[in-house]
Amino acid sequence: MLDRILQAVRERHRFVVTSHARPDGDAIGSALACGEILRRMGKDVVVVMHDGVPRIYQGLPFADRVVHADSVPANDAVILMECDSVKRTLLDGLENCFLINIDHHLSGRNFANVNWIDPTAMATAELIYRMASLAGVAIDPDIATCLYTALMTDTGSFMFEGTNECTFALARELVLAGANPALCARHIYFGHSTAKLRLLGAALSNLHREDGLAWIWITQEQMQRFGAREEDCEGLVNYALSIGEVHVAAFFRELPGGRCRVSLRSKGQVNVSRVAEHFGGGGHECASGCSLEGPLATVITRVVERLRAEPVSSEKK
Ligand code: 5GP
Repeated sequence: MLDRILQAVRERHRFVVTSHARPDGDAIGSALACGEILRRMGKDVVVVMHDGVPRIYQGLPFADRVVHADSVPANDAVILMECDSVKRTLLDGLENCFLINIDHHLSGRNFANVNWIDPTAMATAELIYRMASLAGVAIDPDIATCLYTALMTDTGSFMFEGTNECTFALARELVLAGANPALCARHIYFGHSTAKLRLLGAALSNLHREDGLAWIWITQEQMQRFGAREEDCEGLVNYALSIGEVHVAAFFRELPGGRCRVSLRSKGQVNVSRVAEHFGGGGHECASGCSLEGPLATVITRVVERLRAEPVSSEKK
């Protein structure tokens, strides 16, 4: 499949590289690295993100070149990363483009002209690294920094289920190529806004616990009061999961217009992607998300009910 991706790349010249709305570290890091790798291959590349680059990723190499837009510029092909459909990009104008889909989610779908979905990879960064290797593009310190940040964030700093010797082998390659682990970590874990910390306080004061299940939420009023942005909600769910006896955590965020966003996390005993998929979302066994129509209280009740009904496996500890 990688051969087909490279063939499609070699046959074209002008590329748009993009990923999903509310991009996380893998979406941003892999898109920035992929854009630069294509440039090294002599291509004309624009990295476009519907929501721009979140604050903690703005120090990454090439981040200042990202175009924050609602639609894609003229191109010969669009590379979408980490998306199960064009809809997840929130970008207009993709319908008639030649689409290349690169993803590592189990819930990935073959919606593009060329699809490379490998759920054995811990991060899309792994796939981009393989692409660079096969294309003969050397990984320099800037590309390594983007890919390392993507790998570090998508593995929860090498803590999530599935992290294995291959993850560390890639991390080693990236460090040898010039990524600085301490600096990458400092930007991500010590680069937060004040609003995020205030949100965390509010979310934790809403903590609910029921056996192995914990959930927290944030209202639209709290978002406004703290001057918080969507990106300030990233990772809050992990605080609920950090309780010793808890094996599944949910974070609910009220959106303007009567919808709610849900982030689900598991320590491994419950497959939360099944719950997310049930509500039209997706993701991984241990980290997934979805959006639901309805007031916050109703959405919490529906999702918590579904989580209670999920089988708990005793195999993964
Ligand atoms: P988060 O909770 O951080 O928003 O998302 C966790 C994981 O689930 C990420 O890998 C993300 O791509 C995936 N995910 C979140 N929301 C959705 C969604 O609405 N649809 C799909 N297919 N995946 C989602």
